[in-house]
Amino acid sequence: MAEPGPPKVLVVDDNETNLDILLGLLADYDVIVALDGHSALDLLRQETPDVILLDIVMPGMDGYEVCARIKADAGLRDIPILFITAKTDEASLVRAFDIGGSDYVTKPFRSRELLARVRIQVQYRRAMEQLRHIAVTDELTGVRNRRAFFERAGRLFADARAHDRALSALMLDIDHFKQINDTHGHAIGDIALKHFAAAVQTRLPRTHLFGRLGGEEFALLAPGTDADEAADLAEHLRATVHALRVEEAVADLRLTVSIGLAALSEGALNLDDLLRRADDRLYEAKRSGRNRVWWLRRIGN
Ligand code: GH3
Ligand code: MG
Ligand code: MG
Repeated sequence: MAEPGPPKVLVVDDNETNLDILLGLLADYDVIVALDGHSALDLLRQETPDVILLDIVMPGMDGYEVCARIKADAGLRDIPILFITAKTDEASLVRAFDIGGSDYVTKPFRSRELLARVRIQVQYRRAMEQLRHIAVTDELTGVRNRRAFFERAGRLFADARAHDRALSALMLDIDHFKQINDTHGHAIGDIALKHFAAAVQTRLPRTHLFGRLGGEEFALLAPGTDADEAADLAEHLRATVHALRVEEAVADLRLTVSIGLAALSEGALNLDDLLRRADDRLYEAKRSGRNRVWWLRRIGN
């Protein structure tokens, strides 16, 4: 993962004096400011802060309401919220936690305490992000792991069905990979897998979902891509892998891949069915000689 810069804090407060004080205290942070709840929610469409400092009493939408809306949004709910409050009665604080707040800081501010509370939330948030990254990433290749692939694939399939959009699936399996291990050793096999995954991933548009299902088997879902377009893409990937040189490993280590392709338009009932069709064609690609793409008709070498 990229080295994180200074943590970003969104401060939401209608009181300019408070804002000045907070900006002074948070000098080591990348601070962005909103003067009311609506502008905070607007800002969160473009910015992803590590933590939000949120005043409770504001004209218009109060802090509780802003917090409730953030927590109702799947894309935002993991950002910790620290309430800024002058009210420290038990009922107000319990409400702040009930509504999804992670902590609170009291006015007037106690600078070291405030910084300690902000720091803890940033650390917590970053640790959670790291865990999430680990949970969805295949450790060897850095592409999505099986669980993360299927998690998102289910949503892509449902979307394509709901909006009657094209969707294609590719199953990719490296040819005679066992031989590579047997000839050059498992460590070289690992390097080859990394090169393969990187070569495919870098040639895909951001919309496409690529993951390692296990071993030397990978899957690709291409939304908005019909069978003909997917066949072009698959052939491009096949040729790319064929041209790949894993020189860092062994002078002339060559890889080839076989690819099976199925499109939603052929009438797949569900995601499993679509992938099964692609897998059946992968088998045909293997059976008929490998290093080729198989779909309604085969193309490639
Ligand atoms: P085919 O062309 O029919 O696909 O033959 P293949 O040898 O590629 O297929 P097979 O399924 O027989 O063997 C896959 C091999 O991949 C066996 C396994 O040891 C190896 N493999 C699986 N995961 C890894 C890995 O993470 N690293 C390495 N180096 N090898 C792996
Ligand atoms: Mg194989
Ligand atoms: Mg295999």
